[in-house]
Amino acid sequence: MAPKHGLNTLQPPEDTHKRAKTSSTPASRSATPAEATGKVPFVVHYPNVSSKKKLSKKDQELVDHAEEQLSPFIAKGRAKDGELDQYYTVTPTPEWEAMKKYNNFIIQGEVYKNNHFVYVRSDETPSQKDLDEENLKLFWVARILQVRAQNAQHVYALVAWMYWADELPPPKVRAPDQMTAAGGKRTYHGKHELIASNYMEVLDVLSFAGKADVLQWEEEDDNIQSKLYWRQTYCRETQELSKIREHCVCKGHFNPEVSMFICDNPTCKIWLHKACLIDDILKKTYEKLAANDPEINGTAKPNGKPRVKSKPYEGKFSARIKDVEDSAPMIIIKDLRPGKESKEWEEEIFCPKCDTVLS
Ligand SMILES: [Zn+2]
Ligand SMILES: [Zn+2]
Repeated sequence: MAPKHGLNTLQPPEDTHKRAKTSSTPASRSATPAEATGKVPFVVHYPNVSSKKKLSKKDQELVDHAEEQLSPFIAKGRAKDGELDQYYTVTPTPEWEAMKKYNNFIIQGEVYKNNHFVYVRSDETPSQKDLDEENLKLFWVARILQVRAQNAQHVYALVAWMYWADELPPPKVRAPDQMTAAGGKRTYHGKHELIASNYMEVLDVLSFAGKADVLQWEEEDDNIQSKLYWRQTYCRETQELSKIREHCVCKGHFNPEVSMFICDNPTCKIWLHKACLIDDILKKTYEKLAANDPEINGTAKPNGKPRVKSKPYEGKFSARIKDVEDSAPMIIIKDLRPGKESKEWEEEIFCPKCDTVLS
C-alpha cells in the first residue's frame, strides 16, 4: 500500500488518493521503483480500547495488541492535555512485533532518528525530482515516531503526518476565515506552515527524500519568515484544529506573511489586520457623513424591514492605508457617492479598540 497520508480516509471511497487526482504527470509514477513510493504491508489501526461492548475477534485482537502513542506535538492552544495521545495497533501484528526496534538508521549518509522530521515522496512526487526550496510541497512531511527493521533492506518507520494547509479537509461548520468552501486552509496559514497531526502510518524509509527542518512556533515573535514551522495541530478523533493566538478586534489570527498594525498605547498593544482597520474607519466615516443620506435602492427586504448591511459604506466610500516607513500610517478615504463631488482626503488612524492614534 502506498502512503495514504491519513486524511484521505476522510474522503469518499472513490477519492482515496486526493493528490493523485491532481497529478499532471501520472505516467511518471511507473518509473518509480516500488520501494520509493513507500509501499508497505503494514497498516495502522486505532482500536477503541475503552469500549465496553463485546468486540469481534478481530477487533479484540487489535485491542489486545494496542500500544499507547504519546504525541510529540504539544500545541499551545490544545483543547486538553494529551489531546493527540492515542492507542494504535499495527497489522499484521506478528510481523510488526517480530521486528527489532532501532534508534536510528542511515540513508545516503544521512542519519535519521526518532522525532526527526522528514520529507516523504508522495505518489505525485516526480521520481526524478530532488528536494529543493522551490518544490517542497511536492513532498509530504512526517515526524518519525519509531523505527523497526527486518534486515538492512527492510526498514520501516512509524510516522505522524504533518499537513500542508492546502491539504486540510474543510471543517464541519464553515469557518469565517476559510479560504475556500472545499478546503480547510485558513487565511492565517502561511506559506511555510505545516499542521501537526496524530494520523500515523508505517512507511518504508526508502520513501524518505531528506530531513526537514521544522520548528514549533509559539507565536511569541514574528521571526519565522522562511522556515517551516507548525503552531497548530489537527486531531484525528475530533477533526478539529487547535486554537492559536487571537489578535485584532475581529479576534482573528496572524498570518506571518501579512503585516499587521500594532497599537502603541502600552495598555492596549493590540495587533490589527489592515482590512479590519479599513472596515472600522469606513464604518465611522459612513456614520458621520452618509448615514442620513436618502437611499435610492436596496434598503429594504421584501418584508419591509430595513436591510442590515455588514458594510453599509460599500459603494459610498473606499479607503487605502498609506504606510510609509518612519512615519505614522495614514488612511486615504475616497467619497464615491453619486452626485457628490468625488474627493479624497487623508486622516490619522485611530485604534478601534482604545482610540489612540497609531504612530
Ligand atoms: Zn482583524
Ligand atoms: Zn489600542
